[in-house]
Parts: sequence; C-alpha cells; structure tokens
Amino acid sequence: MKIIDKFKQASGKTLFSFEILPPPKGRGFESIQEAIEPLLEFDPAYINVTYHREEYVYKKREKGYLEKVAVRKRPGTVGICAAIKFKYNIDTVPHLICGGFTKEETENALIDLSFLGIDNVLALRGDPVKTETHFVPTEGGHANALSLVHQISNLNKGIYLDEDMKDGDPMDFCIGVAAYPEKHAESPNMALDLQYLKMKIEAGASYAVTQLFFDNTHYFNFVRQCQAMGIEVPLIPGIKPISRRSHLTFMPKFFHCTIPETLALEILRCKTDSEVEQVGTEWAVEQCRELIKAGVPSLHFYTMGRSAQVKEIARRIF
Ligand code: FAD
Repeated sequence: MKIIDKFKQASGKTLFSFEILPPPKGRGFESIQEAIEPLLEFDPAYINVTYHREEYVYKKREKGYLEKVAVRKRPGTVGICAAIKFKYNIDTVPHLICGGFTKEETENALIDLSFLGIDNVLALRGDPVKTETHFVPTEGGHANALSLVHQISNLNKGIYLDEDMKDGDPMDFCIGVAAYPEKHAESPNMALDLQYLKMKIEAGASYAVTQLFFDNTHYFNFVRQCQAMGIEVPLIPGIKPISRRSHLTFMPKFFHCTIPETLALEILRCKTDSEVEQVGTEWAVEQCRELIKAGVPSLHFYTMGRSAQVKEIARRIF
C-alpha cells in the first residue's frame, strides 16, 4: 500500500514508522530480525531501508603498491525490503539514491521493485563519497533528487528511457523525498532550499521526510514556511534519540542539525553513556508528545541499530 494512502486512511492519527540500515556485508537476515522484531508490537505502518553507495579504500599490494578498490559495505536494500514485506507483511520503503547509479541502472532497480510489488520509494541524491568534498554525479546518472523524481514520475506514466519504447506498462510508485527543517548543508539559504523541495513535489513526490532535529521549533517553523510557499504534502518528522555523549558532536557534523543548549548541558552532566541514553530517551519522548499533539502524520524513527531505545520511547508515546 502506498505511504500517502496510509496517511489518508489514518485520518489524523499519528502513525509509527522507522528506518533501518542494511547490516554490514557478511551478516544475514537475523540482524534485520533483531532490529525489527522488538518494534513490531507498535504496529509499524512502514519501514524504510537506507541505501549505501560504494566507498573507496586503498589495499596494500605487492611491492608496496596501493590499489584503489570500491567496496559496498552495506548492500542489500532491495532484497531486505522484499524480505521484510514477505515475512512480516509490512510495507517497506527502499531508499533510492542518485550517486553511483546511471539512469539505466535506476530504471532497472525500479523494474525489480515493481516486480516485487514494492510501490514506495524515497528518492534521494545521496551524500558525496567520503573521498570527495562535494557530490559528483555518476556519468549518465542524476545530479540531484529532482531529476530522479522526474525519472520515477515518467515511469509512472509508462515513459521509459528507451525513446523507441512506446507501449511500456506504467509503474505505480508513491515517491517520498527528503526535507531539511534546519536547511540542507549545501544550500545557500532556506528560501532556495524550500524552492527545490517544492520542485520535487511538483515533479511528483507525495510527501517528504525530514532530517533529524532536536528542537521542535525548527520543525514547526519549517512546516509554516512550506505552507506559505504552497507546499501542502505531509511533512514527516524524523526522530533520532541521542544515546551517546559523542552524539553531541557527531550529530551536528554529519546531519547538520543543532542541539539545543538545555539538552547539550544535560548530556554534558552525564557520567556514563547509559545516563546519556536516559536523557536522550526523555528528550525524544517529550519531542514526540508535542509532535503528536500537533497532529503530525507519522513519527519516523532513525533506529541506527538502537531498537531497544526506540522501543522504550514508542512504549511511552503510543
Ligand atoms: P537534493 O534534493 O538533490 O538536494 C541537494 C542539494 O542540492 C540541496 O542543497 C538543494 O538545495 C540543492 N538542489 C536541489 N535541487 C536542485 C536543483 N535542481 N538545482 C540545484 N540545486 C539543487 N543518503 C544516502 O546516501 N542514503 C540514504 O539512504 C539516505 N537516506 C536519507 C533519508 C532522509 C529522510 C534524509 C533527510 C536524508 C537521507 N540521506 C541518505 C542523505 C541525503 O542523501 C543527503 O542529505 C544529500 O546530501 C541530499 O539529498 P537530497 O535528496 O535532499 O538532495
């Protein structure tokens, strides 16, 4: 079932959903079960599975030569989505990124998803590879999520890349995109960032999921700014509870979000990570309660391998 239809069907009730990462290469489905099963009692409306592009590592070879090798450390997004859907009968949302894909490969991935009966995708640009300072599009691939949304929307109309193909069956994907309450790191300003978000919606996206944030004011301001621009699709808040002291610097560095002073001071007072986790849980519970009160369509948790903490939060709010 399409995510957008789930929101309509819920008619105002806040849904529970979460995101998991594929396990590192070499680990099997048990690790997926460990991530999902503790959260099943809260009846997740859908589960997102992230996509991780290749990374480059240098391997030492004979005579001291270094060989640059591409490795994909967390493969399996499409397979995991299908496995979850068929084992648990829960809708899944594979993340689809521009980086590392030609348009042809993207089309083939969408054909695979279509055959698997997966009718939701989150269309993203992807971050630059670690060895590059900025995003470099793959030759023959997309430079931004907008262009990817256009391709998926075209396929929804039966328009395939091969211009000679006139009678292709239309696909039927519900497209989600990313949004940034505190602005995307590369955007010169919020107004331009919102303009690009609006273009993604106009190109065919039905809803947006936000980057994680710790201060609901950012989310509420963002929703107001979107409404003022005529963006009317559901804007799903992304929630990540803090669980380690190192998150104080890690989160702002990798997700370009700010941490409110009160939360930061509470974390700094903690003596152990287990104390930090308690603080992070309490903070997330309060954040979620306020968001539910405001009538958000879904609370989308970034589990990042911490199902137990998300379970504790879900137990207290749902
Ligand atoms: P875009 O919408 O393409 O925006 C990227 C930048 O370009 C922005 O600064 C924007 O303002 C600008 N821009 C947008 N359109 C245009 C245009 N037409 N012309 C010029 N500039 C433009 N990364 C992964 O690798 N795998 C994942 O699974 C993954 N999941 C994510 C899930 C969520 C909910 C979020 C919020 C992020 C996720 N990311 C993931 C990270 C994401 O790929 C990065 O944040 C990336 O830097 C931007 O992706 P985007 O889709 O927002 O890009």
